[in-house]
Amino acid sequence: MSNCLFCKIIAGEIPSTKVYEDDTVLAFRDIAPQAPTHILVIPKTHIGSVAEITAENSAVVAHIFEVIAAIAKAEGLKNGYRVVSNCGDDAGQTVHHLHYHILGGKKLAVEMA
Ligand code: 5GP
Ligand code: ZN
Repeated sequence: MSNCLFCKIIAGEIPSTKVYEDDTVLAFRDIAPQAPTHILVIPKTHIGSVAEITAENSAVVAHIFEVIAAIAKAEGLKNGYRVVSNCGDDAGQTVHHLHYHILGGKKLAVEMA
């Protein structure tokens, strides 16, 4: 998607602090961290949100969760962490390229809504 911020980060047109990269997945630090560790994990193919996950593209989502577990370990998040994906307007999604937030490094608020 030519006008997608995260596609531009994948293409290297916008710089990011990369944490992990392979053929299908990229992880980088959030520009406005909400916790001491705040990393975004995204598929390299453009998927708009959780709502666009299908049987045809879900293999990358399974891989993303393997990557999340490995990143959390590498970042030393021994006490736990939160994985969040905002989907659509009611959830406050601001970037319309599927992404999973990894939040950790402090005791997180338990409020979910
Ligand atoms: P959302 O609100 O869609 O769930 O999350 C989008 C996230 O992307 C936000 O946490 C925001 O801080 C982050 N973000 C927005 N623009 C950039 C950017 O240019 N670089 C990085 N690294 N993160 C960004
Ligand atoms: Zn995109």
